[in-house]
Amino acid sequence: MYAFTAPGSHVVFVCGSRFHEGWRRKPEWGEIILIHEALHSLGLGEDPPSSEEITARVAGSCAP
Ligand SMILES: [Zn+2]
Repeated sequence: MYAFTAPGSHVVFVCGSRFHEGWRRKPEWGEIILIHEALHSLGLGEDPPSSEEITARVAGSCAP
């Protein structure tokens, strides 16, 4: 896990070292994770849709 929050929460917890390593290898990945967590902050729950589904939808929407 790189980051997490609860639906409706105003706080997103980030594992700094893991997140930094992922961002360094693939910067767009970090952006996708932050958008994923922002959706939870806005109220989106998980299961369903699964975490992987949310991330895939964000990635598909942000891809050039
Ligand atoms: Zn999630």
